[in-house]
Amino acid sequence: MTSQPRSIVVLGSTGSIGTQALEVVAQAPGRFRVVALAAGGGRVDLLARQAAECGAEAVAVADAAAVPALEEALAANGARPRILAGPEGVAELATWPCDVVLNGITGALGLTSTLAALEAGRVLALANKESLIIGGPLVKRLAAPGQLLPVDSEHSALAQCLWAAGPGAYGGGAGAKAVRRLVVTASGGPFRGRTRAELGDVTPEMALNHPTWNMGPVITVNSATLVNKGLEVIEAHLLFDIGFDRIEVVVHPQSMIHSMVEFTDGSTIAQASPPDMRLPISLALGHPERVPGAASAVDWTAAHTWTFEPLDDEAFPSVALARHVGALGGTAPAVYNAANEVCVEAFLKGGLPFLGIVDTVERVVAEHSAGPASSVEEVLAADSWARTRAAELVR
Ligand code: MG
Repeated sequence: MTSQPRSIVVLGSTGSIGTQALEVVAQAPGRFRVVALAAGGGRVDLLARQAAECGAEAVAVADAAAVPALEEALAANGARPRILAGPEGVAELATWPCDVVLNGITGALGLTSTLAALEAGRVLALANKESLIIGGPLVKRLAAPGQLLPVDSEHSALAQCLWAAGPGAYGGGAGAKAVRRLVVTASGGPFRGRTRAELGDVTPEMALNHPTWNMGPVITVNSATLVNKGLEVIEAHLLFDIGFDRIEVVVHPQSMIHSMVEFTDGSTIAQASPPDMRLPISLALGHPERVPGAASAVDWTAAHTWTFEPLDDEAFPSVALARHVGALGGTAPAVYNAANEVCVEAFLKGGLPFLGIVDTVERVVAEHSAGPASSVEEVLAADSWARTRAAELVR
């Protein structure tokens, strides 16, 4: 490559998305240059090693109390980047001069960095889906066309299908008229095929055993309840400006087709690849170029059976509930997300049955009167109300 390497800021560098992003960078010498890293502060040794390996100019930790340990670890690795601390430090890093900011922060904390990066005019590779779920209207108001690149595998797939469909299909242009519906695929999680009655005795151990993706505990439980798919339907609606009645969820247990777009002439374009987050990460970092060797392709010389089945809304009411809160808009999606996080935590600690997760979220949503989400304060207030109310109901 003769062009300059693309400069990257990685937020959430010690998490699952962050570490895989650094693998993508290491696998493609000369293509990317990591200029700054941010992490929560729980794994300063890893953060310091990462900073030393990529020669970062700056490092931020959300937990300011982790700074002394970080300084020590950086010195041990012979690295001397500028250190920023606290949530403000992480948000400042989101505006650091670079070509692409990857937001791989987990949870509602990621919203501030998303807004900071967009406001500073940075291209944002977004893996933090909470940014869109809780701050949808705020994020959409700030994002210019093409400024937001999805990292979630389903949304990366949808974007690829829309790009393949021609100019304007992505972003509400003329090509968008040819789109009939988005088809989001779901693995169905470990309890696919069970009836509601058969989900009563599900334990945390059973829920943490996901068949195709290896992820953190909260998102793994969200895949078992299909709350994750509900969040992704809202995310798709916001990213692609398609109504909820035109977003379908189809269960595809092999997780090889990551989503599809159906067009008005009856044609469907699908994106297929073995499940590996390095592919969508590399595409968001390298866009519009693809990164050769980022992940393995489907082996078309071997026999495969790929199956598709409808979603059982009675056993898994989370997707229908997400459509409902998505259509309400405003603070309703933030409440769905926050109540769910509290319920998942309670379930993992043995304080709530599996079916109680979505049942409780539904009650919290029903009690909430959704207001506008026109400022960070408003969405965080709704988020905090939902957490408190969910915790009360769990007790
Ligand atoms: Mg996904």
